[in-house]
Amino acid sequence: RGKRAFIAGVADDNGYGWAIAKSLAAAGAEILVGTWVPALNIFETSLRRGKFDESRMLPDGSLMEITKVYPLDAVYDCPEDVPKDVKTNKRYSGSSKWTVKEVAESVQQDFGTIDILVHSLANGPEVSKPLLETSRYGYLAAISASSYSFVSLLKHFLPIMNPGGATISLTYIASEKIIPGYGGGMSSAKSALESDTRVLAFEAGRKHNIRVNTISAGPLRSRAAKAIGFIDMMIDYSLENAPLQKELTAEEVGNAAAFLASPLASAITGAVVYVDNGLNAMGVGV
Ligand code: NAD
Repeated sequence: RGKRAFIAGVADDNGYGWAIAKSLAAAGAEILVGTWVPALNIFETSLRRGKFDESRMLPDGSLMEITKVYPLDAVYDCPEDVPKDVKTNKRYSGSSKWTVKEVAESVQQDFGTIDILVHSLANGPEVSKPLLETSRYGYLAAISASSYSFVSLLKHFLPIMNPGGATISLTYIASEKIIPGYGGGMSSAKSALESDTRVLAFEAGRKHNIRVNTISAGPLRSRAAKAIGFIDMMIDYSLENAPLQKELTAEEVGNAAAFLASPLASAITGAVVYVDNGLNAMGVGV
């Protein structure tokens, strides 16, 4: 039987989530995605109108099929958590069952089980502010959307994951080294995500035989990264200073994710795996 993957955080064809979906599809997995509610309409319309057809192309010439797109807002665990103004917001009221618990229930109803869970989402409303200028609200919002969202997804999907399955999230080196410009508590959120990767690897491994890893990815010009504002500088810095002097492609991260999700990685869990042309290993730029 082919594997089934749920990838949270796909809303266009530029980010890591899309590339991971493609690599998993190329390896034979069935693809389900979770798309942020406010981005759902445009994503589904673009898919339907063939706007992504070129980037849906797999190495064998076929087009990646997304079996189902689920609306998702990973900062809410269940309907009781959703504030009234969000519930009645035009962009949200058109969709239903988009809290984490409800999405897991829908996937179970539709497909029974999954094998692979990917978390490729982050949000920090004050990301462009230095940590010293970050509000409590902004800091907690970054942690909620970028770190706890993974805990919640794992918690709700674990019961429908087949033993031997794997989960993957995306992190960034700002968790462990100073990267000025990655603010708003996003550096803190990535530190939490990496620490949780270890603790959750233990808990999910012992309880369900599920592996938990995170990919520390190098810079990519995604929609989210462009919003931070320093992505071109980071790409140039990597080109100049990394051991491998080439631009990182999303596909390279997708392929590493496909490896980590596969039986080839059956003894790897609790790990932070760098897919960054080696930049993390440098002490000084030369
Ligand atoms: P992206 O814009 O493709 O992906 C981020 C996604 O998160 C978007 O689709 C957005 O709609 C979604 N999202 C935001 N808030 C959400 C919520 N509350 N519920 C559900 N979805 C929500 O950008 P990306 O850069 O590919 O980001 C994917 C992951 O990769 C993130 O964790 C990011 O931190 C990480 N990462 C990115 C880079 C980079 O340079 N782009 C480097 C290292 C790590």
